[in-house]
Amino acid sequence: ATPTALMVGTGRGAQLGILIKGPEVLESTRAVDTIVLDKTGTVTTGVMTLTEVHVAEGEDEQTVLRLAGALEHASEHPIARAVATAAAERTGGPLPVPEDFANVPGLGVQGVVEGHAVLVGREKLLNEWTQFLPAALAAAKAAAEAKGRTAVAVGWDGAARGILVVADAVKPTSAEAVTRLRALGLTPMLLTGDNEAVARAVAEEVGISADHVIAEVMPEDKLAVIKRLQAEGRSVAMVGDGVNDAAALAQADLGLAMGTGTDAAIEAGDLTLVRGDLRVAADAIRLSRRTLGTIK
Ligand code: ADP
Ligand code: MG
Repeated sequence: ATPTALMVGTGRGAQLGILIKGPEVLESTRAVDTIVLDKTGTVTTGVMTLTEVHVAEGEDEQTVLRLAGALEHASEHPIARAVATAAAERTGGPLPVPEDFANVPGLGVQGVVEGHAVLVGREKLLNEWTQFLPAALAAAKAAAEAKGRTAVAVGWDGAARGILVVADAVKPTSAEAVTRLRALGLTPMLLTGDNEAVARAVAEEVGISADHVIAEVMPEDKLAVIKRLQAEGRSVAMVGDGVNDAAALAQADLGLAMGTGTDAAIEAGDLTLVRGDLRVAADAIRLSRRTLGTIK
């Protein structure tokens, strides 16, 4: 590849809304055969809204929302924003300030609110604190997940108290993006920390096959997933937006960051999709292949 031809490729990239770290990046696209897509914020909008609240027997919705909302107010996670915003609205007042707060990456949040030791997050997080969902809450959670929604559990002082359901819409461009990536001969895969049922529902909506869904992956394990695919002999592109995607983006043969995502992801990626439109991932790969092709 001559430097001039590569520079032409990068210039055209800028017009399409692709920022390329350096001309040498184009070279990595040649062999890429697999493209791993992060779910939240990449395939989906990442903007969540609270759609359902289910409480355990004897518990009231206001208390569940107030305590969960107070903790989530201290977190930047998209689920946390949805919960905190809805809690403030529906309880009609400012949320209490937690006396203690900790983020548990990939699992949720925990802390102390109004003297109660509160947890909000994956069922797994509650189980670690020996809190278990009563049958009615487990059923509500399963029903929500079957619809592709994320259900997080709320518990305090030793008992599970509620389920909060948040919905995140698939971006209108994602299904077309998957079709275009396939047309380039790539195998699309979905990678997420979210629950398996949710991941499958989203995969189905965009046309990724169920056996290419990798769910319930802890943030630090996303990197290991990329390494495993590479060890299988695949050349892997990864598209992501989150802090938890940064290591995986750096490990991938080609890392594509959503321009709408975090600085950590953008720094780790080789390319940035400025507008956060996944279809541009296909454009980027086609453009660089074409650039390389013309200069052989
Ligand atoms: P993703 O890979 O989809 O971006 P994360 O790794 O950030 O997801 O989180 C994985 C799962 O952990 C979420 O689907 C959610 O169930 C739970 N979780 C993480 N952070 C929070 C939070 N602040 N509040 C509630 N649940 C959370
Ligand atoms: Mg994400």
